[in-house]
Amino acid sequence: MSATPAPVTKLIDEFSRLPGIGPKTASRLTFHLLRAAPEQAFALADALKDLHEKVIFCSRCFNIAEVDPCPICANENRDQVTICVVEDPLDVLAIERTRDYWGIYHVLHGAIAPVEGIGPEDLKIAELIERARKEETKEIILATNPNMEGDATAMYILRQLEGASVAVTRLARGLPVGGDLEYADEDTLSRALAGRSVM
Ligand code: ZN
Repeated sequence: MSATPAPVTKLIDEFSRLPGIGPKTASRLTFHLLRAAPEQAFALADALKDLHEKVIFCSRCFNIAEVDPCPICANENRDQVTICVVEDPLDVLAIERTRDYWGIYHVLHGAIAPVEGIGPEDLKIAELIERARKEETKEIILATNPNMEGDATAMYILRQLEGASVAVTRLARGLPVGGDLEYADEDTLSRALAGRSVM
């Protein structure tokens, strides 16, 4: 039998499964929590539990939220007929930080990437097309990342919207090519939004 109590081994194993955490760091974190006040460990356990019990996806825009619809969708002061389409919830945060956008969002939860086996049906694209039709959307801003997957996703959505009475625009170039929207600074993102053009 191992000399290490099973709960210790178990927590080390769980930490080791997280990205960027090797066995050494996993052990260090585990023994830190063992020596710390029990309240600290309990608070961590509660936070982890809440993450999955209290965070939900908005049924309209698929952003993460604590309520459905999310506060952005529910805000009547926002322009409800302009939808900014992004890959991830972090991109919503990046665009909100610019304080220059007053429309609403649609989160795809990824981009089309055949190499990784991610097709349109794995993303919230059908839901977007349905929304645009039902909500009488005036403009759809395709703010997918300025890389191969993001461009392919934007083109696919554009084709799906053919014939619909909605303006489809794409963020202006000027964002770091191949980069991620979430890492762009606020000024660059503001300019890309302001300079968007019809696809
Ligand atoms: Zn929402």
